Amino acid sequence: MSQRDRETPAAKDFTRPESAAVHGGSQARMGLTPPVVTPIFQTAAYELPSTAVAAGIFDLLQDGHAYTRLNNPTCDVLEERMAAIDGAAAGLAVASGQAAVSLALLNLCQAGDNIVSSNELYGGTWNLLANTFARFGIETRFVSPEDPANFAAATDDRTRCYFGESLPNPRLRLFPIEEVAEAAEAHGLPLVLDNTMLPYVLRPIEFGAHILVYSATKYIGGHGSSLGGLIVDAGTFDWDRHAGRHPLMTTPDKAHGGVVWTRTGRELSGALGRSSYLLKARETLLRDLGPCLSPFNAFLLLQGLETLPLRMRVHGENSARVAAFLHGHPLVEQVLHPSLAEGEEGARVRRYLRGNCGPLVQFEVTGGREAGSRFIEALRLISHVTNIGDVRSMATHPASTTHAQLPEAEQIAAGVTQGSIRLAVGVEHIDDLLADLDQALKAI
Ligand code: PLP
Repeated sequence: MSQRDRETPAAKDFTRPESAAVHGGSQARMGLTPPVVTPIFQTAAYELPSTAVAAGIFDLLQDGHAYTRLNNPTCDVLEERMAAIDGAAAGLAVASGQAAVSLALLNLCQAGDNIVSSNELYGGTWNLLANTFARFGIETRFVSPEDPANFAAATDDRTRCYFGESLPNPRLRLFPIEEVAEAAEAHGLPLVLDNTMLPYVLRPIEFGAHILVYSATKYIGGHGSSLGGLIVDAGTFDWDRHAGRHPLMTTPDKAHGGVVWTRTGRELSGALGRSSYLLKARETLLRDLGPCLSPFNAFLLLQGLETLPLRMRVHGENSARVAAFLHGHPLVEQVLHPSLAEGEEGARVRRYLRGNCGPLVQFEVTGGREAGSRFIEALRLISHVTNIGDVRSMATHPASTTHAQLPEAEQIAAGVTQGSIRLAVGVEHIDDLLADLDQALKAI
């Protein structure tokens, strides 16, 4: 067929994540001359051509849109683009990172089940698992990822998944993805990994992770303007082979007319048909609990994704220079940064990160809490913000903010001390960043 005869432009052909960040997600279905930039489909509902088509969409026999709580063309492109960057089968966009973690895990568990989770977690996720899920009757068994064998040791026949964060802050110790994924496979469990800190830099599916979650609010959006979350399914977990472990996926679901999710959706030609796990999450949890992503935020997150590889490269270069500057500084007691890891951990950093250690640096100033707060207040370029994931450099005092609700023992387990400072190093010129750190250290 010649270019002149095409009814839609040819699908984009690419193999690398840098190209996926710009071109991932099909716009071809948006007509003969589709817009180059994904438009914002700011609509709650869609005109249905017939009752037969409507029934087909609701019965999961046909692709289509009926209501934006379930799917939306702008969100579709975001989902497909992130899946392409990660080399995954499909994605699901939701309202925030917390919604992504919640739905990813609730999709596998019901009352009486348990999750074996790393104890090195973002404070919000720790609370979700330790308190909110516990009230739903879902138990979380927290284990240290320092010894990957802890995951298998805490597993029983009601365990439904393993969970961890690829680069938990503030400790900034890489999660042993390969070892825990191997244990997960051996027990018929998927490994769900929060990769919020290292999108593009680390592709955990290459190392065996089955399901990824992201706070897109952070580096995916990259500009600190919009909340959003993503769940990405590698499509590699064989639910049917471990059917006894995963009755929610493999037995009739009353929540959707008795469908068996692993047998449903195969008729769907688009991304909806590529992940029975995400089809279930969309058609039951997103439908019932409702944390859908606004199309406007999906547009902003797509704009961010286009420059994700470029930004992450500069974040990584700058954070390595900042870590080197702080390491050995007379007023700094300890610096945590993956580039400083040694032994087995150092080998893991080299294998997983290939020279880019991501944006985060954690350090401790001499003089404890008071010196820490004097340092934060003396900063003139770096912002004092509890967020991370922005092009701007940001400093946080975790003990009084992000980790304040955790019991002290849990704070210490997470690597937070009274004088800890977390830096999310931005993309400003490195000379300006080092000058600001230098003058703020002199002020303590
Ligand atoms: N996961 C991690 C690792 C995070 O750092 C955060 C937020 O800081 C979340 C999840 C929650 O994301 P959101 O704030 O978008 O709900």
